[in-house]
Amino acid sequence: MSISVCYYSGMSDPSPILKKLDLLYPRVACALHFEGPFQLLVATILSAQCTDKRVNIVTPVLFEKFGTVEKMARARIMEIEKIIRSTGFYHNKAKNILGAAKMLVKKFQGNVPRTMKEILELPGVARKTANVVLSVAYGIQEGIAVDTHVMRLSGRLGLSDKKTPEKIEQDLLPIIPRKKWGRFSLQLIQHGRLVCMAKSPLCGSCTLNKICPSAFLYSKKVPQKRGTRRSRDTLGVKLHTKKR
Ligand code: SF4
Repeated sequence: MSISVCYYSGMSDPSPILKKLDLLYPRVACALHFEGPFQLLVATILSAQCTDKRVNIVTPVLFEKFGTVEKMARARIMEIEKIIRSTGFYHNKAKNILGAAKMLVKKFQGNVPRTMKEILELPGVARKTANVVLSVAYGIQEGIAVDTHVMRLSGRLGLSDKKTPEKIEQDLLPIIPRKKWGRFSLQLIQHGRLVCMAKSPLCGSCTLNKICPSAFLYSKKVPQKRGTRRSRDTLGVKLHTKKR
């Protein structure tokens, strides 16, 4: 593997992080329920600003009626809106799903394309959705899907100091081996959900805490007794010990 420098932390090689993630999440998979690339595309569009759990409640109803590109392309927008309402932003999502289905029928013979350039032509599809569909449905690694968990953990792990998904992805691509792009994204998502949550990450029980430059920086603060001073690291350890 070539040695790259992470711009943010100066880390010479992210392979210790990758090794630990592989041990922690050896068989990570996409949490969305779907059959085939088109259903995955729809589920991923619905997952914007919504939990996968909520999407998985909605999609069985949606796919029962409009489970294929052709059926979706013939749907009335109000029917789609009614079913997907609870996922939020449902006007836009319904418009994009219907528009994507129509374009797939008209321009791509009813098939979800296999290239980044073509898939980005679909309404409502940005790089994150395109990366998920290409990687999970086709096993094609054209990039790294950067969602809210990947954004947060890339910063905490010292892999990127950028603030937008596009720029973070550009920092990650040169330092993560291409064959791991899809898995790396899913592993960070899983770690973000289970351990490195936004508000109170469980640094004390995190396998990465000896190599993570943010270990214990974001752990919940505990009130200090008067006259005592403890470092943030100590606070994190104490907090975790107490919780156990
Ligand atoms: S040590 Fe803490 S901040 Fe770093 S990855 Fe683990 S939980 Fe997240």
